[in-house]
Amino acid sequence: MQEKKKMNLGVKILIGLVAGIIVGAIFWMAMGADAAGAFTAKYIKPFGDIFVNLLKFIVVPLVLLSIMDGVISMGDIGKVGKIGWKTVAYFLVTTAIACIIGLIVANIFKGAFPVLSLAEDAAYEAKSSNLMDTIVNIFPNNAIAPLSSSSMLQIIVISLAFGCGILVAGDKGKPFGDFITSFNEVTQRVMGFILALSPYGVFALMVWVVAAQGPKILGHLGLVLLAAYIGYIIHVVLVYSMSVKVFAKMSPITFFKKVFPAAAFAFTSTSSVASLPITRECCDDMHVDSEVSSFVLPLGATVNMDGTAIYQCVAAIFLAKCIGIDLTLTQMIIIVVTATLASIGTAGTSGAGMIMLAMVLDAVGVPPTYIGIIYGIDRLFDMGRTALNVVGDASCAVCVNHWEGNNNA
Ligand code: ASP
Repeated sequence: MQEKKKMNLGVKILIGLVAGIIVGAIFWMAMGADAAGAFTAKYIKPFGDIFVNLLKFIVVPLVLLSIMDGVISMGDIGKVGKIGWKTVAYFLVTTAIACIIGLIVANIFKGAFPVLSLAEDAAYEAKSSNLMDTIVNIFPNNAIAPLSSSSMLQIIVISLAFGCGILVAGDKGKPFGDFITSFNEVTQRVMGFILALSPYGVFALMVWVVAAQGPKILGHLGLVLLAAYIGYIIHVVLVYSMSVKVFAKMSPITFFKKVFPAAAFAFTSTSSVASLPITRECCDDMHVDSEVSSFVLPLGATVNMDGTAIYQCVAAIFLAKCIGIDLTLTQMIIIVVTATLASIGTAGTSGAGMIMLAMVLDAVGVPPTYIGIIYGIDRLFDMGRTALNVVGDASCAVCVNHWEGNNNA
């Protein structure tokens, strides 16, 4: 029943997208770009803004709670420490590599990305960001302020600290841990309500984008989509084949064959969490020990998102270029750090990576409102990135399985 609802939402988003393109093109043809842009910015875009506001509203509780819940789901720190460190190290290294691949591909494509004339935020100044200040600022000096100012990196530090605190507190921490798990569940539902509004938000934003830019913007969206998929493919071929070959002593062909059902399901469902039972089955088929897969896979579905990281890097470069910001090397490094953390904070559900993109954009001074430019085709990005996320979780499971002295198929 739930799966059916998700499918319906996908179809509705597609309808909103196509309808938005058609209506936007009609405005553009009838009024010309300037008048159509001004008219739709005044009367249609505000409905899209409502949707973007709701996305921004949910992002703080979403990150705070999903990371805390991820830490809590590790159970007792001491007991899971050994597998935990290997898993987390694998997740972090592969995700950082994913970000670098995303940045390289996006920089190659950058010349072809457009600079758009979206007057509204034209005066927006890029934040001058210094790496050391950024690192110091990750650590909050106040527990409440980061929540109200949506300082995502600080929120992640708070979530990790309290998540570990709950685990270390043992029995006394358990009621609070249960509360967090339940609160996280509720937040996911609220996110579901907001995502249910997607078709309307997509429609309004697409009308505005196409009316103001003309249908040629669609070609640019195709280009950024292509850049993301090239990044996904490079990551699969380079990182996963090498890691299963080198660390798990397994033939990459066998690995890809066995993980294919999970990847295909992830591609259509766009949810790592929903794909979990199938990923588990694929890992069973590769003889991954059940202790390993029952720890690595749920954690991976919550925090390990290589596809999401690639998408966030490509999208950040694209949107920065759209508003005429040429990112410096320091800002690229900030993208690697924030996209790694943002992908960890991304829930393994449909569309969550796009919500977390706001954090990456914010860190390099691109107003998150511009997510609207690519939101309409997010599902197309999401299909590929979720498949990659799930394959990444399975690759970690086979590697950890080998490190623990077990044989893979
Ligand atoms: N849909 C992705 C997943 O479940 C998350 C994302 O939106 O990037 O893995």
